[in-house]
Amino acid sequence: MWWTYLIIGVVIGLVLLLCFALAVASFSFDNYYEKWKALNQKRNSYGLTTLDYVEDINEKFFDGRIKIKRCAEFEDHYSTGTIGLSAQTMGSNSLASFAIVSHELGHARQDFTGDKLKKHWRMRKTGKICGLFFLPLLIVGLVLTSLWAFSVLPSMIYLIIGLACAGASFIIFLFAVILKYEEIKIEKEASDFAIEFLKEYLLDIEIKYCQELLKSARLTYWAGLIRTLLSWTMLTSKTPMFR
Ligand SMILES: [Zn+2]
Repeated sequence: MWWTYLIIGVVIGLVLLLCFALAVASFSFDNYYEKWKALNQKRNSYGLTTLDYVEDINEKFFDGRIKIKRCAEFEDHYSTGTIGLSAQTMGSNSLASFAIVSHELGHARQDFTGDKLKKHWRMRKTGKICGLFFLPLLIVGLVLTSLWAFSVLPSMIYLIIGLACAGASFIIFLFAVILKYEEIKIEKEASDFAIEFLKEYLLDIEIKYCQELLKSARLTYWAGLIRTLLSWTMLTSKTPMFR
């Protein structure tokens, strides 16, 4: 039958697409790490430390309103009015530190000039709570619908409850995907701002290196979206749907 071939074709196509998506997802993290390692060896030509740089940007663009506090290594971040830097980052004058910290300063600019970052944080909190219900709802939905289909629970009410649960889990999934997509847009803008800050301090070639690192970081956000899309396959279960 011709449709047998069609189904086989579609299944093969889907499997290939899945393999490709998973390959992109794992490649992007290795790629970012390699770039980071290389750039961590490169010092900026002015010999500025990252802390000097952050303090300077803080004065110039934020009237000193950003608080700078110390955090654990590899946990440099921005959260409401405060930038957290590890001792290693503060003392470093590598281009990798500059690029990462500039990105965090980009988030600071988003926070100081609008409410989209705070809105996103609030949505993510809601998402985290909704995410807890995803799997239970999906399982209850599938079990009830199957039991109805096999006439174990013949009453129509089980089908309705089953479909409602499955539908609710699908809405949660969609919410996760939309949130991830929003996050990618926010991250891109933070990196664009980062480049603007860096332009005040670095040589063109140094900016180009930083830009490449930030670009490869962006690929990991797309990988995050792929992971969210494929989370139901359990192949990427290590990443929670909402972070
Ligand atoms: Zn970011």
